[in-house]
Amino acid sequence: MSNHTNAATPEPHPAPIQVPLEWDTPMYRLAVDQLDQTAERMNLDPNIWERLRTPQRAHVVSFPFRRDDYKTVETVFAYRVQHLLTMGPTKGGIRYDEDVNLGEVTALSMWMSWKCAIMNLPFGGAKGGVRIDPHTLSSDELQRLTRRYTSEIIEVIGPDRDIPAPDLGTDERVMAWIMDTYSQQMGHAVPGVVTGKPIEIGGSYGRREATGRGVITCAKEACRKIGMSLDGSKVVVQGFGAVGAVAARLASTLGAQVIGISSISGGTYNPKGLDIDAIDAWLKQNGDDLKSYPGGEPVTNQELLELPCDILIPAAIQNQITEKNAASLRCKMMVEGANGPTTLEADAILADRNILVVPDILANAGGVTVSYFEWVQGVQQFFWSEEEVNRKLIELMQAAYRNVDQLASDEGVTLRTAALMRGIGRIKQAKHVRGVFP
Ligand code: NAD
Repeated sequence: MSNHTNAATPEPHPAPIQVPLEWDTPMYRLAVDQLDQTAERMNLDPNIWERLRTPQRAHVVSFPFRRDDYKTVETVFAYRVQHLLTMGPTKGGIRYDEDVNLGEVTALSMWMSWKCAIMNLPFGGAKGGVRIDPHTLSSDELQRLTRRYTSEIIEVIGPDRDIPAPDLGTDERVMAWIMDTYSQQMGHAVPGVVTGKPIEIGGSYGRREATGRGVITCAKEACRKIGMSLDGSKVVVQGFGAVGAVAARLASTLGAQVIGISSISGGTYNPKGLDIDAIDAWLKQNGDDLKSYPGGEPVTNQELLELPCDILIPAAIQNQITEKNAASLRCKMMVEGANGPTTLEADAILADRNILVVPDILANAGGVTVSYFEWVQGVQQFFWSEEEVNRKLIELMQAAYRNVDQLASDEGVTLRTAALMRGIGRIKQAKHVRGVFP
């Protein structure tokens, strides 16, 4: 029986937070506001509600980082936040970004908790961040930074504790350096300390493409729901990184016309469809410069979001669709590859305008799902083929989408609210059966 519930009549809402919390930033507020709205709707036990509003552990570190010139030593701030230790080890990516802060990482760790619960994965949410622009670093600098950050958080990560993965600004190389640094300290190889690592050291086939594949699986499901076909639809993708580039390529392979894509410096638009192979080749020659791509017209990131299309896929950063531009979006549906791209106010505007939104915690859960496959394969030392990974991922994503969609219909709520209800509901059940220590 639960011992989370007080004998006295519980307050209808957790007590307001009096003193500003260290992680109290706009992005954290967004995550908490989403939780609060959903908890109210679910009539969630207020004791559990309050526990879910703050992370269980939040580590802030600062460390010296030497540049290649061997003169400059900078102080770098970095974070690792573990939101929920109830469900198993914690799991979540590490982002390298010059604006990252404790509030952002905390919000992302909360979303990871809901995401893992929606997908029924045996993990709680975590997230890490290093406050630096990775594009200014040489490969040696990136490696030194990664190894020092790993040694700063070494006590709190581990294959049974907390398992990092790639996110914005990090990739397979970074995961390999984390794995190597951790293993050096332990005295033996510990591949299970990270996921999203290279195949040569126990990575999984299909992990690199997993988030984009999950996004497109959700887009297909959402198309089916509204009687539209992905084949022949017009797609716009913001962000051409690990998530966006794969989503664009898969959409195009499935017959969609990708008419707009962008990176941090701007984008390109062609209403007749862009050739993804030609864009890949262009980017190899010209760095990040999509604006000058000769096969399309230059657009700013803001213009890109407002292009007329069937499916908009924000796959870059948070806070992109706000009350300022939500009324100007000209898509039929939006499938969120990025975490937190839509503010609460924008969400309400899109719902009013009948634009179907597949929320981040469902749409981009393919990454953590294949990370889970990677972890399972590592534990068993038995590795699956790429076809097997992709098939299992698509099965789980379809099942999760349909489950959330059914709940949305039953409760008469948006997919975002239904996804939050499903994730938070499963965590609530786990907390009830575990009880409170001591
Ligand atoms: P990435 O670093 O590989 O690519 C990011 C892309 O976004 C790049 O094209 C970059 O130029 C662009 N970008 C960065 N800042 C921008 C800005 N201010 N305006 C417009 N474009 C900008 O990162 P990624 O791994 O593809 O992650 C993208 C998003 O997806 C993030 O929100 C991340 O949290 C989320 N996500 C990633 C994964 C994953 O497996 N990598 C999983 C789930 C969610």
